[in-house]
Amino acid sequence: MEQDIKLEILYVEDDKNLREEYQKFFSKRCDTLFLAFNGQEGFDSFLKNKPDIIITDITMPIMNGLEMIKKIREVDTSVPIIVTSAFNEQEYLLEAINQGVTRYILKPFNRKLLKQLVEETITFVNLKKRDEYYKNIIQEYHEIIDHNVISSRTNLDGIITYVSKAFCQVCGYSEEELLGKTHNILYHPDVSEPFCNELWETISKDNTWKGEIKNRTKDGQDYWIQATISPIYNKEGKKIAYSSIRENITAKKKLEELSIKDSLTNIYNRRYFNEKIVELLNTCKRGNESICLLIIDIDYFKLYNDTYGHQEGDKVLIKVSNSLNSSMQRATDYCFRIGGEEFAILFITEKPDNSISFSNQIREKVENLKIEHSKNTVSKFVTISAGLYCEQANKIKNDMELFKKADDLLYQAKESGRNKVVSN
Ligand code: GH3
Ligand code: MG
Ligand code: MG
Repeated sequence: MEQDIKLEILYVEDDKNLREEYQKFFSKRCDTLFLAFNGQEGFDSFLKNKPDIIITDITMPIMNGLEMIKKIREVDTSVPIIVTSAFNEQEYLLEAINQGVTRYILKPFNRKLLKQLVEETITFVNLKKRDEYYKNIIQEYHEIIDHNVISSRTNLDGIITYVSKAFCQVCGYSEEELLGKTHNILYHPDVSEPFCNELWETISKDNTWKGEIKNRTKDGQDYWIQATISPIYNKEGKKIAYSSIRENITAKKKLEELSIKDSLTNIYNRRYFNEKIVELLNTCKRGNESICLLIIDIDYFKLYNDTYGHQEGDKVLIKVSNSLNSSMQRATDYCFRIGGEEFAILFITEKPDNSISFSNQIREKVENLKIEHSKNTVSKFVTISAGLYCEQANKIKNDMELFKKADDLLYQAKESGRNKVVSN
């Protein structure tokens, strides 16, 4: 890495003998040695080559060293300048010092002293260059991270104090719009309060929180991030902030969603139902809870298609799905399309009575959509029948048994008149 650091010296001297003598020594001490034979050439070479160190005589033809130094100092106040001067030029030396000369050495040279001065200056310049070099590297890394890593920082109250450029790019908000706000501004309305509480509890107790968060961009697009949020401490070990690093996992999530959602109605599909029923049953068994399964079927739907056409039938399926889905309130309520015009709702309940009224509300909501269905003998509108089975999970052998029980109850609902919920 450090071979990238190059040292260049400009040596301005009109005396041919002196030049030849020192040229060798100087060129060994640097990567490039530029030579100039008077002040004008020296100044031109300085502008062109921007050397790291200048070593110059004072008395020279065309432009003397002092004039050159003055002109250089007008554009560069820091480049080290070493002046070599004859005794009889001492009167100039004061002026040279006033012009900002770094070191001076009197002619005839004490060679050892000159070399030592040059060495010292080289060491100084090298240190400075290395410092700048690493500063630049750190700056470059910072830029790369800023543009590519979605990161943010908040104070202990969750107020945003820093966001990376990548962060702004993903969410569509500018830095000014985010600083001083909380991350709530980004959360999708689906993000529940218990979810946020759990996150805060974790980081408040000095733990790192890792998980997926659904967000919404400024212009209303949904996006998913995988976040790692950790507390930051100062040297004394006192917690001072929270930092987060995020990965955009929207593409993965969209794919995941496609595989678990029904393409017509956009609610969960049969595949996901098969997975969830097993999962929820096991969760309820562990927590010794009751599980409920509501199996729903649209009444006389074949007749609806026959009367209004298949396309209109599809619209009904979408409207009914939206209606069913809108009743899903808790994180453990799930609604699926499990067949042509069949749906399932899985939920957990503490009170079986509540589950019956919950199911009837769902049924009434569909009838209240007031979708005309002239061939429905039980209502003027599209209606549903449902079988509701609620039981302590530990009393249910497996998912197949749970499904069969609810499906049998649905059959009874159909048999006993439709547009009703039959429960166990
Ligand atoms: P029941 O009250 O006994 O449930 O009578 P039904 O006519 O609803 O029951 P049946 O099982 O005889 O008919 C279901 C109908 O659902 C038949 C089929 O054409 C229709 N169907 C299934 N999937 C779709 C779909 O994706 N779109 C539309 N438009 N119709 C569908
Ligand atoms: Mg059916
Ligand atoms: Mg039906």
